[in-house]
Amino acid sequence: MFEGARLIIGDGSAPIENAVFVVEGDRITLVGEGAAVQVPRGAQHIDLSGKTVMPAIVNAHVHLPSTREARVDLLQHMAYYGAGAVMSLGLDSANVLFDMRNEVVADGAQARLAGRGITAPEPGRSEVPFWITSEAEARAAVQELAAQQVDVVKIWVDDRNGQYPKLTPALYGAVIEEAHSNGLRVTAHVFTLEDAKGLLRAGIDMFAHGIRDRDIDDELVALWKERPDVVLVPNLPDPGVAVDFAWLSGSVPADEVQSMQERSTDRPAAQASFGIQARNLARLNREGIKIAFGTDGGVPWATHLEMEDMVRTGMTAAQVIVAATGTSAELMRMPDVGTLATGKSADFVVLDANPLDDITNTRRISAVYLRGVAVDRDGLGARFRGGMRP
Ligand SMILES: [Zn+2]
Repeated sequence: MFEGARLIIGDGSAPIENAVFVVEGDRITLVGEGAAVQVPRGAQHIDLSGKTVMPAIVNAHVHLPSTREARVDLLQHMAYYGAGAVMSLGLDSANVLFDMRNEVVADGAQARLAGRGITAPEPGRSEVPFWITSEAEARAAVQELAAQQVDVVKIWVDDRNGQYPKLTPALYGAVIEEAHSNGLRVTAHVFTLEDAKGLLRAGIDMFAHGIRDRDIDDELVALWKERPDVVLVPNLPDPGVAVDFAWLSGSVPADEVQSMQERSTDRPAAQASFGIQARNLARLNREGIKIAFGTDGGVPWATHLEMEDMVRTGMTAAQVIVAATGTSAELMRMPDVGTLATGKSADFVVLDANPLDDITNTRRISAVYLRGVAVDRDGLGARFRGGMRP
């Protein structure tokens, strides 16, 4: 049993101060406030006085490497930084990734995957996604993904700054319709406001990015409110401000931290792009749109930067934590993770300071537990610092 910590549940409810919770095997079997909990006899007591416990982070937009060794390494590095579950969106073709889907990687986050995503032909970019140019191809691609039982279908609707034709409403409409008739949901990489509206009209289930070309308008908000189950994974861009990377020294070689630090400067152009997406996220949050969490890419500590960036937009730390835990778990249909309650998987992060006071306190990790077992952060950190990262 763990006692004395402030416990953040992950569902937006008030934290439990001086919490007691009991872990048996890989499960939380009891949660409550101090004296109210009847602790089983003989339980080992772990004192967490002064600490804050939050659910392990759930990252609904990553890209994982395509070999077993690199994938295991990254899932462990993500776990080192507090992630319990991640979803890989659309660049996964190797069979090994499907084989690994239900595998428990010791000291590693769990992974869900979209397999091969679907886009218009984009020669020169990744060759992994399906390139479709007709509704028949759209439906055939979805049927192949349905046979593989992917967790979600990923589409890209983006002309990449005018370089390529993008999926038309007829094509993404066919993908979405075929996916729904096969019991699958669709997430969209989107760039423009116009496409976001088209996707909402076509029945999209979630967005893997925010709207990036301009400030959103009332029409978008109205369309979204007609479909309140559609979830936004904001996936904010680089805010373009200098940040301190010293907190990475546990897993990143010192020279690498130093060069990241040197590159971290104020960049006004990046700040302007960030501003569009920040205002859009702030508005959608104010309008009550459901917001989850994702970082894109495969940087294992990006979760902590993203949480800070979401707070920069005006979301509260409490809202951001819910996005990065309970709401993302719900989005990924993983009811065992994302919240801390009786019967849930014992996936949690022990922090030295309260992230509700300052979101950057999510970086002050004392321990990470996944499936009831403490992640070997010392061992992993030494391995990563030794340059074992892919
Ligand atoms: Zn992505």
